[in-house]
Amino acid sequence: MQASLNSHTIALPPLLVAGSDALKRRVLPPVLRGEKIAALAVTEPSGGSDVAAVRTTAVRDGDHYVVNGEKTFITSGMRANFITTAVRTDPQNKGPGGISVLVIDGDTPGLTRTALKKMGWWCSDTAHLHFDNCRVPVSNLVGVENEGFKTFMNNFNSERLFMSALSYGYAQVCFEEALDWARQRSTFGQTLSQRQVIRHKLMDMMLKIDAARSLVHELAYRIEHQIGDSAQLVARVAMAKVASTQAMQFCADQSLQILGGMGYMRGTRSERIYHEVKVMMIGGGSEEILKDLASRQVQI
Ligand SMILES: Cc1cc2nc3c(=O)[nH]c(=O)nc-3n(C[C@H](O)[C@H](O)[C@H](O)COP(=O)(O)OP(=O)(O)OC[C@H]3O[C@@H](n4cnc5c(N)ncnc54)[C@H](O)[C@@H]3O)c2cc1C
Repeated sequence: MQASLNSHTIALPPLLVAGSDALKRRVLPPVLRGEKIAALAVTEPSGGSDVAAVRTTAVRDGDHYVVNGEKTFITSGMRANFITTAVRTDPQNKGPGGISVLVIDGDTPGLTRTALKKMGWWCSDTAHLHFDNCRVPVSNLVGVENEGFKTFMNNFNSERLFMSALSYGYAQVCFEEALDWARQRSTFGQTLSQRQVIRHKLMDMMLKIDAARSLVHELAYRIEHQIGDSAQLVARVAMAKVASTQAMQFCADQSLQILGGMGYMRGTRSERIYHEVKVMMIGGGSEEILKDLASRQVQI
């Protein structure tokens, strides 16, 4: 459920920051009223981590761009009315300098969509998009042509921050379910919570959750009070997402272990959350990419 709503929180900010007034007026109010759906389309079949390598092209033809290419793993992609899309507008520039942000309307002729089946996020649709000579008005360009890369990069920071908060929240739910179970479940004449090995598992969960939560709260304070330069903040956002998703992974795993067979059954919260671990660790910037990004920001 949160994923399908969050497609708006990743698709709309580029427009809010850099879109024309006319585009903002057309797109933002109906989405915020819940009447229309927005999606962000950056990832392509050839790879999502290397955003600068976008291959989908948008070639100027009069008052339109002609868009050709593919996007994949797009949240809300099946239903989206507006798709904030990363396109290459300068075919000579194969790097970050040739990328633009284009809003593509969902009813554009030449756009076809295929639903994808996945491990978790069942309440959110995920799609493969195919653009075949889609004519998109030039007025749908967001910001300056060929300067879209920075807009997408900035957008990732807020996505990573809310994914961090979500992840330690999921970890906390797993911890609470495991604690509750450990206090009630009795084996060999004692509750699980009376066993040192189980108490250590619960403490390890609590340690990781508190560390992740502290990192995120401190980061939110820094952002609100504008403490630290942008490189430091980018590094801390990356670290917060890594720490929080690692806490989620650890706690989902440990909670299932403490719940035993019951943890494997549909209906426990930890089983449900276990399905969501990998998308949180991969989507919005994978652990490997984020550690690498952070290391460059702090000049390691
Ligand atoms: C359910 C779901 C929803 C999604 N929603 C959206 C969406 O709405 N919009 C959107 O644009 N994208 C979306 N994505 C895509 C997501 O952002 C990408 O999956 C992610 O960025 C990774 O890209 P990739 O899958 O192509 O993996 P790749 O980039 O091919 O990477 C594969 C693996 O290799 C590692 N790797 C890559 N490069 C390096 C390197 N240089 N050094 C070390 N390791 C490396 C990665 O960390 C990863 O583990 C979604 C994905 C999922 C699963």
